[in-house]
Amino acid sequence: MIQVENLKKCYGTFEAVKGISFEVKEGEIFGLLGPNGAGKSTTLEIMETLRDKTSGTVTIAGFDLDRQPDEIKKIIGVQLQTSGFYPGLRLIELVNLFNGLYNKAVDPIQLLSAVNLEDKATAQYKSLSGGQKQRFSIATTLINDPRIIFLDEPTTGLDPQARRNLWDLIRNIRNKGTTVIITTHYMDEAEYLCDRVAIMDAGKIIALDPPDRLIDQLLSSGFEKQKENKGANLEDVFIHLTGHALREEK
Ligand code: ADP
Ligand code: MG
Repeated sequence: MIQVENLKKCYGTFEAVKGISFEVKEGEIFGLLGPNGAGKSTTLEIMETLRDKTSGTVTIAGFDLDRQPDEIKKIIGVQLQTSGFYPGLRLIELVNLFNGLYNKAVDPIQLLSAVNLEDKATAQYKSLSGGQKQRFSIATTLINDPRIIFLDEPTTGLDPQARRNLWDLIRNIRNKGTTVIITTHYMDEAEYLCDRVAIMDAGKIIALDPPDRLIDQLLSSGFEKQKENKGANLEDVFIHLTGHALREEK
């Protein structure tokens, strides 16, 4: 679905992306992992046609990024930073605004139901909880019925319940055939969601494989965990005590 070859991005004399190559298969959830400053967002934004590259080739669904950016825009969904929405508008109004931008006529209630926000149709964006805002911003990526969606740290700052709820949503979107590219700092999330992950560091891809294979490779190199594994962790305790139900935090 996506081919990236020898992609480079310089900001002035600083090389933020240093000639990376990878492919994303149709229908997979592909994770871009790496510490802050690794070049994940730069790489995403280049694929999203929002940022110019310095060199290299990018092909998305057979379309060349340099020659056919408009064709690419038609088949991708891009999650905007949540602050990009007019805070005072109601969700229905925002969906209709996006309908206008994309020249679509998606039924707002149907779209909001897909992300479990039908009850919030007439609520103002600013009144939503953090998890609801993230679900709404994912909904807006689906308006043009995209073949690929790009999610940049969609679960940052969410409580464990809202995070799990978003995992279900992302899996459902993929199960309908949409290819998903996601960045995250949560390794449990990447392990749960991603078919394959690329680990970036300082502008380079230093590993690319299914999470399970990366773990097996580490173990076969003789790696041993310091702490004994208990078969449950503190997050399990937290979810056990507080339940899976979503909370409406502000
Ligand atoms: P990540 O998303 O992995 O945290 P980014 O792609 O945002 O990384 O940034 C990669 C590097 O490029 C960082 O060192 C960052 O400071 C730098 N960078 C990002 N955007 C710009 C920009 N517009 N101008 C200059 N440097 C930038
Ligand atoms: Mg980033």
